[in-house]
Amino acid sequence: MPALTVEDARIRAAAVDVHSYHLGFDLTVGAETFLAVSTIGFSASADSTFVDVKPDELLKVTFNGELVGVDALDDGRLPLSGLRAENELVVEARMQYSHDGEGLQRTVDAADDRVYLYGMSSLESAPRYFACFDQPDLKAQYQLSVKCPEDWIVLGNGPATRVKPGEWEIAETKPLSTYFVTLVAGPYHQISGEHDGIPLGLACRQSLKEHLERDKDDLFTVTAQAFDEYHRLFGYRYPFGEYHQVFVPDFNLGAMENPGCVTFADSMVFRSQVTAAERSTRARIVVHEMAHMWFGDAVTMKWWNDLWLNESFAEYMAHRVSNVTEHVGHWTDFAFVRKWWGLQADQRSSTHAVAPDAVKDARESLDDFDGISYAKGAAVLKQLVTYLGDEVFLEGVNAHIDAHEFGNADLREFIDTLTEGRRRRSAELDRAMVADVRPGHDPRPSQQHRDHLAA
Ligand SMILES: [Zn+2]
Repeated sequence: MPALTVEDARIRAAAVDVHSYHLGFDLTVGAETFLAVSTIGFSASADSTFVDVKPDELLKVTFNGELVGVDALDDGRLPLSGLRAENELVVEARMQYSHDGEGLQRTVDAADDRVYLYGMSSLESAPRYFACFDQPDLKAQYQLSVKCPEDWIVLGNGPATRVKPGEWEIAETKPLSTYFVTLVAGPYHQISGEHDGIPLGLACRQSLKEHLERDKDDLFTVTAQAFDEYHRLFGYRYPFGEYHQVFVPDFNLGAMENPGCVTFADSMVFRSQVTAAERSTRARIVVHEMAHMWFGDAVTMKWWNDLWLNESFAEYMAHRVSNVTEHVGHWTDFAFVRKWWGLQADQRSSTHAVAPDAVKDARESLDDFDGISYAKGAAVLKQLVTYLGDEVFLEGVNAHIDAHEFGNADLREFIDTLTEGRRRRSAELDRAMVADVRPGHDPRPSQQHRDHLAA
């Protein structure tokens, strides 16, 4: 199947504006497949485009009330022509559960044969479980309806409600990129909490229940302290409502920053005594995913070439903000573990610029999830903060979030915002200096101004 190129994405983003998805899932039809009905509302300014879907079997497609031949599907792309100003596409498909951690993953717990599902949509996995315009800069609001066994719970990017036994609704989300959409379903053990008006949740498979219960205070405390610090730094409250942290089986990465419903590898539910360093590392991963809620989720890169900025920012913020928790050693870890990861990645033939010039397609971008995009990039951001001064950096970040909330922005726009902040700050300092050299006053900069200039 062809991967989406930046050119494909640019043309499609100019052609369509996606408003809403309603995704209906029937998870009761067997162990191999499930049914997915994707209803997409979008406006268009071109005659044709395509939607991404990778089904086991495409059952029925209706476009603006007319049937579309399902044999038009070609290598994961369903062409659409005769677009109107406003359109409704309904795609009904039998989809396969995945077993490689991408798409809608289905795992049978070897401990007790219970079945657990979770959706993983990054980087190009969303069409493996629903039809969509799969690129970061086509954001839309999502509502989900889910049919599942009666003893399951369902979680997602918005508040989930059990409307009757075995039937759940997930309320409309904020605008999300396709790669953030998740659906968690199964007989998960769930623990609820609350902090500063934000409903909190932890969940894991039943066989890990006692271990998660033992660590719930640590996890909730780290989460609460990080929320307080992010609210203080960003001056912009967490925008996605509830905040669930779900520890899932057979996960490919450390964690995924799905807004409102972060998924973590359940190896992070400790099953025996662990070191203080392991607890610190887990706290940083919790705090890293939280940073993405602002930088990555509320404001998202336009294309994958800015992936490094997303990850470097979260990496930098995790090492900084974790210092408000009881866990220690964060900058030491950065200097002696994470930066080494970056240095080693830099010595390989696969090394690349932190901010790559070459724009890769959606699949090749996976190659850049490495020590350069995370740790070396975070070291560069740390230098930038020192160069600009913390106040200018945070003002720039906040202006960036305000200007692009629930939208997309690229590196150039971020740098422009920081540059503007720096210019404004310099002008303020110049005015303060001029005021200081009025007659009768010592013309030398005051210590306070020297401190500002050194920042
Ligand atoms: Zn991340």
